[in-house]
Amino acid sequence: GAQQMGSAVCRLLNGQGLAASLSQLRHASSHAENTNKFLREALNRLDYPEKLQNLLLTPRREMSVELVVQMDDGQIEVFNAYRVQHNNARGPYKGGLRYHPQVDLDDVRSLASLMTWKTAVMDIPYGGAKGGVTVDPRKLSERELEKMTRKLVVAIKEIIGTYEDIPAPDMNTDAKVMAWFFDEYSKYKGFSPGVVTGKPVYLHGSLGREAATGRGTTFAIRELLKAMHMGKLGDQKYVIQGFGNVGAWAAQLLWEAGGKVVAVSDVAGAIANENGLDIGALRRHMSSGKTLASFPDGAPLRKEDILAFPCDVLIPAAIGGVIGPDMAAKLQCKVVVEAANGPTTPEGDLVLRDRGITVLPDIYTNGGGVTVSFFEWVQNLQNFKWEEEDVNRKLDRKMTDAFTALWTVHREMAVPLRTAAFVVALQRVTRAEVHRGFD
Ligand code: GLU
Repeated sequence: GAQQMGSAVCRLLNGQGLAASLSQLRHASSHAENTNKFLREALNRLDYPEKLQNLLLTPRREMSVELVVQMDDGQIEVFNAYRVQHNNARGPYKGGLRYHPQVDLDDVRSLASLMTWKTAVMDIPYGGAKGGVTVDPRKLSERELEKMTRKLVVAIKEIIGTYEDIPAPDMNTDAKVMAWFFDEYSKYKGFSPGVVTGKPVYLHGSLGREAATGRGTTFAIRELLKAMHMGKLGDQKYVIQGFGNVGAWAAQLLWEAGGKVVAVSDVAGAIANENGLDIGALRRHMSSGKTLASFPDGAPLRKEDILAFPCDVLIPAAIGGVIGPDMAAKLQCKVVVEAANGPTTPEGDLVLRDRGITVLPDIYTNGGGVTVSFFEWVQNLQNFKWEEEDVNRKLDRKMTDAFTALWTVHREMAVPLRTAAFVVALQRVTRAEVHRGFD
């Protein structure tokens, strides 16, 4: 089985790369190292040789560029940008583009790795990658944001492509940014709608893509509740950290299913209502340009207190690293559903395990986004548009099947769901690596 394949790989790789990879790992700072800590826990169960392990722990290619942009006032601004390609054994590299002031190479490395395991857990034919620009997009005009995006395309165009590496939205990037990306790439390489996903529906995008991560999260919760005999979506109290694309859609769909969303937060503030917030009214309130915190039918809450607010299902849907050991000790929920990438640190995870709080891991929970990205890409290759019901039904099937796979390993190996998800993913990626060969 996998072990035999592993020793074949071991013989194929000479000693050269190992010391380098190890010292690289030792010097890696927090994010990438945290992801690798989770990965190693699964690797410990699989008994792969060290060289294969190191190959799976480190990215295949990293690109680091400067984007020089002339701002509206005539001044020159330089932004650091990255594209990290972690693994492409199962198919083209795939993963989003993040615009955020905290983006750095280490951060993008860990997010690229998570994409490899996510596409494998979801069983879609992609590898993993991630890109990012260190920028606070709120400080840029729309014109500046467009110029910066086009500079990014020019900088990375030789390593991406419809069958090479396919970017998508992530934090602070949306369909509008993807349209610029598609347009700029097509100038150099010819019409290429499949080079990027998450495009506007009227520009080769897919129906259902925008809601997909939030919708997938609700399917994931439904399956978890069923497996844990906790009842239905509508029976639970939810707390959601983050009201961007993922958090807002999850809130909307859980509320539509009859669930009580008792507290939500965004970057600026938080609100709570024990009887459940009217999410429809909240979204209307916000689309009229008002802040989340000023919603009249919610009591103000300090945004630092959102995660510890009592509920059944806690959904971090914002940035990574928010549940460390101290926060983990304060949570008042039965399950944590990781709609964000990397919200729980390895130390936080241990505390949750100790407290008997179940964690549904990011590489499964938020896999609905990249799954519908895959559907969008397939539609681009087919020059055909699927109906929204088709997209949603196929997404449901993917989320349900992936849950079955990880729940089975969770039961059979008696490991936490996160480790089970990494085991499922590692087996799929390793099988592809080994059966493609190394010549
Ligand atoms: N950024 C999303 C994620 O973290 C989607 C990536 C994609 O669609 O390629 O999964």
